[in-house]
Amino acid sequence: MDAEVFRTWIVSAAEVIEANRDHLTQLDAAIGDADHGINLARGFTAVLGTLDTPPTKASTPGGILTLTGNTLISKVGGASGPLYGTAFRRAGKSLGDAADVDLPALSAALDAALAGVQQLGAAREGDKTMVDALAPATRAFSKAIAEGASPDDAFVSLVEAAQAGAVATIPLQALKGRASYLGPRSVGHEDPGAVSTVLILGALAEAARAGR
Ligand code: ADP
Ligand code: MG
Repeated sequence: MDAEVFRTWIVSAAEVIEANRDHLTQLDAAIGDADHGINLARGFTAVLGTLDTPPTKASTPGGILTLTGNTLISKVGGASGPLYGTAFRRAGKSLGDAADVDLPALSAALDAALAGVQQLGAAREGDKTMVDALAPATRAFSKAIAEGASPDDAFVSLVEAAQAGAVATIPLQALKGRASYLGPRSVGHEDPGAVSTVLILGALAEAARAGR
């Protein structure tokens, strides 16, 4: 996967976030402050603005992810900005300046992204956050690769695990972030950040498929 695949990922992520902006915001209205879709749409719009703009123009997979992370951190006010920003920065750092990224390298980058989110936000699986989608997804992806799955199957595993993880947040009580202020009243709603993680990983799977 070359820089073009990663550029396509980020552009598609921006599109799918924009298309789901109201949905994400409604999810956040139930257990937060109704801004998750707005926050992310604003952030990814800013990312699109910087992606091709000299002197920041990024030309490697890692450079594109690092630029994405930096922009999300600087443009998104909510908790999700620094968390996603750190995720993309860590993934970018993990890829280094490689011009081409294979599945194991991508898997390691996603592991690094998860580690960054957990280091910053201190959420564990079951706390009803984006970690509940990202952690099982990275696990399923590395397992599929280790078992010799085809790239298509590995990406299907990634997205399906994220989706299952997001749905599984519905019966949970939030223990981190704004939703935790609701206590037991946070039960019965899907976590917005887990849903946006599904969308972003879905865009990755799509970009990788299109790039082959
Ligand atoms: P805010 O909560 O500041 O309004 P957003 O609405 O943009 O920010 O994002 C909310 C999402 O951020 C939540 O649905 C959750 O997935 C994620 N989140 C919040 N706190 C944490 C945390 N400590 N660790 C991981 N994810 C978190
Ligand atoms: Mg919010």
